[in-house]
Amino acid sequence: MSKIDTNKPLIEVEGLKKYFATKRGMLHAVDDVTFTINQGMTLGVVGESGCGKSTTGRAILRLLEPTGGSVHFDGQDLLALSAEEMRHKRQELQIIFQDPFSSLNPRKTLAETIAEPMEIHHIFDDKLKREERVLELMDTVGLARRLMNVYPHELDGGRRQRIGIARALSVNPKFIVCDEPVSALDVSIQAQILNLLEDLQEDMGLTYMFITHDLSVVNHFSDDIAVMYLGKLIEQAPSEELFAHPTHPYTQALLSAIPEPNIHKKTQRILLKGEITSPIEPKPICRFAQRCNYATDRCREGEPCLKEISPKHFVSCFLTDDM
Ligand code: SF4
Repeated sequence: MSKIDTNKPLIEVEGLKKYFATKRGMLHAVDDVTFTINQGMTLGVVGESGCGKSTTGRAILRLLEPTGGSVHFDGQDLLALSAEEMRHKRQELQIIFQDPFSSLNPRKTLAETIAEPMEIHHIFDDKLKREERVLELMDTVGLARRLMNVYPHELDGGRRQRIGIARALSVNPKFIVCDEPVSALDVSIQAQILNLLEDLQEDMGLTYMFITHDLSVVNHFSDDIAVMYLGKLIEQAPSEELFAHPTHPYTQALLSAIPEPNIHKKTQRILLKGEITSPIEPKPICRFAQRCNYATDRCREGEPCLKEISPKHFVSCFLTDDM
């Protein structure tokens, strides 16, 4: 493993855009998103369904071609690579999906499934060495070797997700997009998979972008948290800072929905009312204005920019103007 420098950026995303053409106009799924993830660190990306978090992950890996902006990986401009060059580069940038079952080939055994990325990228062309590596990977992710010839439908969700993780690791990546990797799992299995991902990060120096709709999942897992709303990044801060001082009204509402473990401590849940603004050809105003309890005319006439309100804490809201 090469030396990890947690002060050195591995992923630099600047002004990333991904629009989709629809009959009613361009849908702005990701709109001018900027962030950096340093080596060996985890950025949790949080927001409700349709906020653009998964599209951002896929656009970084160029599984979806970005409409604009730039993505640098270890200093290299990924958007300047040809399709063939990107195919090779993807060895270093992997993804783990939410639903491992739909991402696994039902006709391949567990061992064949884990071996497949190594075949595609010509890692261990010697079959015996590849098989040895598959067994090592099964040990690493906690899959019993006796399961090597079973098929995905014979396994539970937790084990299927372990296969997804082993596949991603098989090509020795530096960066992994974890796209809601525990959302489809029971709570007890969720904890096991999160612990496994954490151990792997420590052992292998991996860098993660961890996408989830559930802030409580990323609380202890992420170094930094970015909150997205309707294609925009609206707040980003180190994890502890975000939980201690949530500033954007949408982040405050998300946090208020997390159950309080201390039953004697009363927290007021903030219920969001109002319609969600259409992401199709959105006006240059605050996209949260229709649901925000603090909205003023100004919020319906102009769009706030991300502003650093304390070290590494960025917020996009007019309420921070006096901070
Ligand atoms: Fe609410 Fe206005 Fe801030 Fe938008 S800019 S989050 S509408 S207060």
